Amino acid sequence: MTLAFARRMWALDCPSLTVEAVTLMYGLSGMVTIPMPSFLIEHPKGLVLFDTGIAPAAIDDPVALYGQEMADALGITSTPDQRLDRQIAALGYKLTDVTHVISSHLHFDHSGGHHLFPQATFYCGQGEMRFAHFPDPLGDFCFMPDELAVMSKFTWREVPGVDVDLFGDGSMIILFMPGHTPGELSLKVRLSSRTFLLTGDAVHLRAALDQEFQFPLDCDTKSSLQTLRRLKRIAEVEDTTVWITHDPDDWAEYKHAPACYE
Ligand SMILES: [Zn+2]
Repeated sequence: MTLAFARRMWALDCPSLTVEAVTLMYGLSGMVTIPMPSFLIEHPKGLVLFDTGIAPAAIDDPVALYGQEMADALGITSTPDQRLDRQIAALGYKLTDVTHVISSHLHFDHSGGHHLFPQATFYCGQGEMRFAHFPDPLGDFCFMPDELAVMSKFTWREVPGVDVDLFGDGSMIILFMPGHTPGELSLKVRLSSRTFLLTGDAVHLRAALDQEFQFPLDCDTKSSLQTLRRLKRIAEVEDTTVWITHDPDDWAEYKHAPACYE
């Protein structure tokens, strides 16, 4: 196999949520504001999105989409320019240029823009689509039936319970990281300057990774702990930067669009 690199990666600027910190990690208090990013990755064989954030309609009117109670609990802060469609256009791409969407999982804050890319091939982890349609009661509010009905018609590849090399060249490895949901996926992106591992919701906060604290709504806490330990091991032994995609300090530390990593 000839190893290659992804050409460029942009962290797309995104709306944020302000939620009670204890909903992210046991033992915390107060409120915390977290990003909900998507990542656009340019590769010679395609234009790849990792997650699509919240629905653009939630930026316009979160109460209309989620109802008053949930909108209040989420505390969405956003600007119209943070709509996913506008951000992709601002980088000079059309929505139809996107060829692959890697869906870390199907919670609303990661899959709300999936409907924008009917031409793309979508990837989810083993068991994710079925769980999204029949979730455990504890976290069922995180799945949006109307959004699922639209995206279910698209072309999906279910990643079996193993890691998958997207283009067969080592540049983008889809990592199977179950626990938060049955089919949670992370994505390792190998660029010429550095390698990132984008976590999705395999972990939410840096402190949770350090202390091995599962997320309170994880569907399988034993798998979550194994996933946390796998992430820690990758961070320790590989030349890979683990980007915890909801972590506000990670978001502040790394570059966002229009800046990119090459
Ligand atoms: Zn989630």
